[in-house]
Amino acid sequence: MAGIYIHIPYCRQKCHYCNFFSLATGRHREIFPQALISEAISRREYLEGETVQTIYFGGGTPSLLGAEVIGEIISRLSELFDLDADVEITLEANPDDLDEAYLKQLAKTRVNRLSIGIQSFRDEDLHYLNRVHGGQDALQSVQRAKEVGFQNLTVDLIYGIPTLNHEAWNQNLDTFFALGLAHLSAYALTVEPKTALDHLISKRKLTPVDEVQTATQFEILLNRMEKEGFVHYEISNFARPGHYSRHNSLYWLGGHYLGLGPSAHSFNGRTRQWNVARLDQYVSGSATEGVVQEKEVLTITQRYNEYILTSLRTSWGTDLEHISSVFGAGMAEFCLKSVQPFIHQGNIVQTGNRLFLTAKGKLFADGIAASLFADEAV
Ligand code: SF4
Repeated sequence: MAGIYIHIPYCRQKCHYCNFFSLATGRHREIFPQALISEAISRREYLEGETVQTIYFGGGTPSLLGAEVIGEIISRLSELFDLDADVEITLEANPDDLDEAYLKQLAKTRVNRLSIGIQSFRDEDLHYLNRVHGGQDALQSVQRAKEVGFQNLTVDLIYGIPTLNHEAWNQNLDTFFALGLAHLSAYALTVEPKTALDHLISKRKLTPVDEVQTATQFEILLNRMEKEGFVHYEISNFARPGHYSRHNSLYWLGGHYLGLGPSAHSFNGRTRQWNVARLDQYVSGSATEGVVQEKEVLTITQRYNEYILTSLRTSWGTDLEHISSVFGAGMAEFCLKSVQPFIHQGNIVQTGNRLFLTAKGKLFADGIAASLFADEAV
């Protein structure tokens, strides 16, 4: 199971909450696609000939690249890698880029899944977040994508925005359900250090995020998605059966992936690598392994910790048998012991050999996973 992630680092403007590597600039945009291909050529052995089942254009805002350019990148990748005939190719897109002409051109490429960064259908929330688009753009972009023939669509929504009361959050969910889509990614608004949001809140120019509001809206989300027949297959992801994101599932199930573009990560089961998060350096070094800033050969303990972090967030849960067979019986015993306090607190349940977060535990997923991590000495 292997995939390719492609990081497009350009955005029209920086959203207040964003801590991804993305720049509101057009610098090097003309030569950037060629830099990606040069990197793909220089690192084509990384996946060791595995068939590529998913390609994901993320960012940044990949829809700022022309549809022809996206098509050309895919066609070059198909010459360099063994792409599965049924490969899932996702493009993250912002609503303001998805006019009819763009969508029609995109439909001629092998992109078969669109992930649209809606965040909210309400202008007030979008203004708080400093998004470029408005609520109407958000709605119409999804409708247009459907009309042009994209059937595999997902949208992102954000809850916990101070301008979004519970009633408005319910309305955003109503709008989502009315669109008839089979996948939703929903994220809690978090204030990451050094972001504009962090700065503006500390200067009292924006209302702070309220944890109780966020937790209540998460509960609303869980209840409503369940009632509508969606599977909560990862903390932030919901799908109708058979509509899971194959690319994200690959990350959560330990699959291998090559990350192309500045700041992209790669993992092939033995090593993890990080590309430089600098545009100039990336573009000038892309034809060599120079774009890789850091490589690490993972120890058993690191791989175990990573498995805990990803598996606990999913509906497949953490499998004690898997831990025993891959990391050793001692690790399975360690896991079972360290999980007991969370079982007593009602944050985790054990069913057979698997451990799952409860609805209450899902609110603290990352903190619980970190408490289950092993030290190198275990
Ligand atoms: S569009 Fe996405 S990547 Fe770009 S600034 Fe906004 S959140 Fe960040």
